[in-house]
Amino acid sequence: MQSFESIATLQERIRQAKQQGLSIGFVPTMGNLHEGHLSLVRKAKAESDFIVVSIFVNPMQFGPNEDLDAYPRTLEDDKSKLVQEGCDALFFPNVDMIYPEGLEAHTTVSVPKLTQAHCGAARPGHFDGVTTIVNKLFNIVQADIAVFGEKDFQQLAVIRKMSNDLLIPTRIIGEPTARDPDGLALSSRNQYLSDQQRQIAPAMRQVILQTLEELKQSKLEPEDISRISKKATQNLENQGFKIDYFNIVDAEKLDQITNSSIEIVILAAAFLGKTRLIDNQTFSLNPVNS
Ligand code: AMP
Repeated sequence: MQSFESIATLQERIRQAKQQGLSIGFVPTMGNLHEGHLSLVRKAKAESDFIVVSIFVNPMQFGPNEDLDAYPRTLEDDKSKLVQEGCDALFFPNVDMIYPEGLEAHTTVSVPKLTQAHCGAARPGHFDGVTTIVNKLFNIVQADIAVFGEKDFQQLAVIRKMSNDLLIPTRIIGEPTARDPDGLALSSRNQYLSDQQRQIAPAMRQVILQTLEELKQSKLEPEDISRISKKATQNLENQGFKIDYFNIVDAEKLDQITNSSIEIVILAAAFLGKTRLIDNQTFSLNPVNS
């Protein structure tokens, strides 16, 4: 694996790979790699020839009171994991290279509507930071495919929307959430949890799965949705979570379920202490797929 800090040298290497007829697969990350990230790299390898992974803790997507400085940075460890997975090129630019004139002066890419609720409501400006950096990385790498985790369900929906709207030629692929054996979705933020919080954390998955069963038994009328989500919220609060949101919505529009909804999604975000955990579960309304 070759490592690149500079945009120009990475682009030169990608140009050579393309000249050799290789297709390019791209996995953007913020580093501190775990099995979830590595499953995206494996998917990229299955779908393309030359794999580029980026590691960049993007300041634009962190709010003023979020964990930008504390975010775990483990470059050497990440490199050896990527070598093992057969990654071809690692791109780890510094902040000045990506935002040479600072954040304030920089153009932003913004997806309206889809970013308003859920994590967008809880983290103002977060998705503008995500779409701006992803757009920029897409322009640098010019990949054939890019792989993202379904764990960040709203993020994936927002990136798909941006790509469709802006006619971005890179094909977006979503990959299922990698979990610990007790069901907790893998996340770089899990390491902030105390032992006691770590024991409570899988309850989020359990409550989501319980909610899924209740939805399957219900008529999905607005009052059912409201009753079921209230019960789930209460259940999580009783176990020590502080709920950010627990929403049951149309999986495509991320808005109210309607008669034309074909898939719904349970989206949840909650704090254990200072650590914010998110998870989700989709549910197809087409009887053939459910
Ligand atoms: P991050 O480094 O947290 O920005 O995540 C980089 C990519 O890895 C995103 O596409 C995430 O959705 C994805 N990802 C993070 N955690 C998981 C997980 N547990 N399973 C699958 N993908 C994940």
